[in-house]
Amino acid sequence: MKNQEFALDMPFATPLDFAAAVSAPATVTGGLWFVYRGSELLVRDLAGGDRLPLAADAGALPGGLGPAISQRQYLGTLADTHAWCAEAPAGTPAPEGWTWLGLRSLFGALDDRCFALAGRALQLVDWDRTHRHCGRCGTPTRPKPGERSRECPACGLVAYPRIAPAVMALVRRAPDEILLARSPHFPQNMYSALAGFVEPGETLEQCIAREVLEEVNLRVRVAHYFASQPWPFPHSLMIAFVCDWVAGEVRANPLEIEAAAWFDIRSLPRLPNRTQRRAAADRRGRRGDGRGEALAASGRGRRRARRGLCRPGRRQPGASTTRMSRLAASPSTFNAA
Ligand SMILES: [Zn+2]
Repeated sequence: MKNQEFALDMPFATPLDFAAAVSAPATVTGGLWFVYRGSELLVRDLAGGDRLPLAADAGALPGGLGPAISQRQYLGTLADTHAWCAEAPAGTPAPEGWTWLGLRSLFGALDDRCFALAGRALQLVDWDRTHRHCGRCGTPTRPKPGERSRECPACGLVAYPRIAPAVMALVRRAPDEILLARSPHFPQNMYSALAGFVEPGETLEQCIAREVLEEVNLRVRVAHYFASQPWPFPHSLMIAFVCDWVAGEVRANPLEIEAAAWFDIRSLPRLPNRTQRRAAADRRGRRGDGRGEALAASGRGRRRARRGLCRPGRRQPGASTTRMSRLAASPSTFNAA
């Protein structure tokens, strides 16, 4: 039960009062809109730095956005509000009083439920954008009625939103040490757990063993599952485990890890938290570059998960070690006890 309660508090986890659906009731035209321009969400500035996604009737989007947006998808209902996502063409200016911001920079600036739906919307918009032609024969695809998929009218191939599983590993060593590492793109002195994408044919346990060995030269054994977290940059699901050290001395792989070390759990290095993220978000908001850290576990103190942290960038084919640093940063640091 603990884990369930915890999971519900995860950033990007589906809000309890959200009901997903593929098709809107015929009479519904508006509601809450998550409109993306690339990876940037259209939001309104509110006092105190808070933001709101677009809420409007479909025919009355501000600044004439209505005709500009495309690839509309119905998401479902948040409480009693219908929710949609859509895409605006590159270069579309923000209407007066609105701005385009990267989702990562909105952590703490959007309320948690909207932030979660914005993550879902980002994944769906990105999926829709990258599956407009059949991957087998190149024919333009079309939405398949009644489900979240696109099908090829020529060969029948059906494409569903994809999700890439990635593991996170918090390695512990008796009695009170955990292994943390930092990638070169982390903020100064910030550390986190290890992470990496699952390869075809691997179990999660095998993936952890491979990644930890590749990254820091340690042999580990999975102790227990910890939690999972959607990670929409662009379409991952993080699956976190606590692991026990078995053998080896820490040797960071310089291709991806800048530093790695054992830390006493009573004396941990800098880890991201919501306050830091919010401050960073405010700075990024002013700069408007939408970059930086994001996510986190829910934050119930050190006894619970620590913030995850991920860098932007798409998954690329290639060496698994490269994937690690791309995602990598994702890890939450969670309690080893
Ligand atoms: Zn086809």
